[in-house]
Formats: sequence, structure tokens, C-alpha cells
Amino acid sequence: MISKEMYELGAKRSTIRELFEYGKQQSLIVGKENVFDFSIGNPTVPAPACVKEAMLELLETCKSDEIHSYTSAQGDFEVRKGLADYMNNTYNCQLKADNFYMTCGAAASLCIALKALTADASDEFIIIAPYFPEYQVFIANMGAQVVIVPPDTDNFQIQMDLLEKAITKNTKGIIINSPNNPSGVVYSEETLKAIGSLLRRKSEEYKKPLYLISDEPYREIVYDGVHAPYVPAFYDNTIICYSYSKSLSLPGERIGYILIPDDVENSKEVYTAVCGAGRALGYVCAPSLFQKVILKCQGKTSDVALYDINRKMLYDKLTDMGYQCVRPQGAFYLFVKALEKDAVNFCENAKKFNLLIVPADDFGCPGYVRISYCVDPDMIKRSFEAFQKLRDLYK
Ligand code: PLP
Repeated sequence: MISKEMYELGAKRSTIRELFEYGKQQSLIVGKENVFDFSIGNPTVPAPACVKEAMLELLETCKSDEIHSYTSAQGDFEVRKGLADYMNNTYNCQLKADNFYMTCGAAASLCIALKALTADASDEFIIIAPYFPEYQVFIANMGAQVVIVPPDTDNFQIQMDLLEKAITKNTKGIIINSPNNPSGVVYSEETLKAIGSLLRRKSEEYKKPLYLISDEPYREIVYDGVHAPYVPAFYDNTIICYSYSKSLSLPGERIGYILIPDDVENSKEVYTAVCGAGRALGYVCAPSLFQKVILKCQGKTSDVALYDINRKMLYDKLTDMGYQCVRPQGAFYLFVKALEKDAVNFCENAKKFNLLIVPADDFGCPGYVRISYCVDPDMIKRSFEAFQKLRDLYK
């Protein structure tokens, strides 16, 4: 007898993975250059030079046990100290090494944070549509309940009245993600201020802390001079889940961290529970070499300007064709209104032109599609004819 839930999870691929695999098969039939795969969020802009330089330097100058051994379970002290210094200089905060827990990317950070906070099966975590689909899987797997706030399709910020309604005596936390996958929207300071004051008021009403989990793998991928604000500045009970998968184009290296500032209520207990959750889930001693690599690359990112070229090219052309697009301020996704109510059917129609785009139903936003533009710009140019044909189908 095996776990039915885990079997079902393993047996069913996500819509994104399904399309990605379909694209590979279709390439064999019609040729790779004729398939326009906008399905997956795998960074195409190469990792910056500092990554290779750091790796070479570490490999050449360090003894094997300095770069390949287990670190402390929560991560190497010098690395965590370096991250604290960098954050303090960048965001004018007062962090220490012991506010950081090194992990394997944002997915592990989220699972650990959720596991650490979940006390019993009635605990609820609120997610705001459109959201990263795996949140549902992670929350359910920690034995907690998912509560969804519907999307604000006018400007893709947060409908505060609906968020307020979603908060109950069982609420344990809220997950936010800005810059957002899939909408590309960056939450404004006004939005963050409103979240902060709502959560403070509700924490008082229910006489318990409400945790804000800020999932930030796209923090540095922003455009037009927009900045993703430092979320703990707006609300003390904030836990940051960070990853270098996107900012340094290192998704395969599985490296990131959880940040629990001292201002979090009972921060020492929360940090200890995070250590316990990391232990229980087997996410201890994040990849040792890459802990040291990212320390040497603090403040560096992949060349965001290259994503910006793709962003502008797609947004301008698709808008010209008559598609209704959300103008992305960050991340590398374009969120577009489907030309019919049923986005799943719309994406099936797109497949007729070998155009692989993702219906946003799994992101909690039916009627929209996600176009991932971390792709080769030439593919974008070649794809315009297919986008036009799709548009013509609905005339
Ligand atoms: N959160 C969001 C919003 C994402 O888009 C992703 C990956 O695409 C993740 C978390 C997981 O990232 P990681 O590769 O760091 O585990």
C-alpha cells in the first residue's frame, strides 16, 4: 500500500510540464524552429560571469572539505553573515547570520516555512490569485488548508476587502509573490502598506500573529525603474522565501534561503521550528559549493535588460494585434486575456499553430493565459505569425 495522494500527485503532471513535454514531441514532428514554446519559466539569460569566476576560484583555491562537505544544517555561518551584511546595506535593516536558513530554492523555502508554521489541520494559509500553482500542493502537503482570494483583474494588485473576508480565526498566514508569477505585476508600496495594516488589525482581533510569507524569487527582475520593496518594512511578521533560481539563472543548483527577521513575533521559536522543519523534510545543509558561490555574487544578477527586450517586443506586438495584455513590471511572464471565456480551449486552439501558452486556470485566474518570455528572442519574432493566426481565428 502506498500513499494515494502522493501517487496521484506523481501521476498527474502540471499543465506547464504537460505542455513542455508536448513541445518536445512536436519538435520532432515539425522541427524545433516551428514550435513556439512559451510554457516554462526556465531562465534563458545566462548566469552572470561572477558565477563561473566564483566557482573556478573556489574549486582552485579551496580544499575539498571546504566546498563539498556538509555545512551546518542551517547553512554556513560566513555565508549567512555575508547575506545579512548585504541585506543590511541594501535595505537598511539590521539582520544577523542567525536570521537566515539556507535552502534548496524557493520551493524548499516555502515547504519549510509552511511546515514550521502549521500547528494543526485547521490552520489556513491564504493565497492570492493569480498564484504559483504549487502553493496548493505545498500547503496541502503540510496538512493545512488553502484559502483563495480571487484576482483583481483590473490591475492585478490585491482586493483588500476580499483579503479581509478571507481572514478567519484559523488563518495562520498569507503567501504573497511580487514580482508576480504569472501576472508580472509588482505590488506597490500602497498595497504592502494596506496588507500591513490589515494584518496588524486582524492579529489584534484574533489575538495571535498572522504571518506574511513573501515568496520572492523574482525580486531583482524588474523593469522601467520599478523596485520590489523590502516587505518586512511594512509588516513585522514577515518571513521571506528567496531563491537564486531566477535572479542568477541557477534553477538547477537549488539554492536560496528563508529569512526570519528578529521583528517576527517569537522569532527565535519560529527560527527553531524552521530548523526542525528543514530537518523533518530533509532540507538540511543546502548545496555547499553554491552557498559559497552566491555569497561571492551578492548584488549581481543575470542581464535583466535582455528579458526587457523580450518583454517590450511581445507586449507591443500582441497589444497591436488586439490582445489585452497586463503590462509586466517584473518577472518574465506576460499575462494575456484569452479571446474566449475558456482559456483551456483557447490554448488548445493555439496548439494548432504550434503556439504553446499556458491557461491560467491552475493559477486561479480562468480566462487568462501565461506567456513565459524567458526565451530566445528569435523564437518570439518567429511566433508572431502564429499569434496573428490565433487572433484571426476569433474574428
Ligand atoms: N515561487 C514562484 C512564484 C515561482 O515562480 C517558482 C518557480 O518558478 C518557485 C517559487 C520555485 O522556485 P525554485 O526554483 O527556487 O524552487
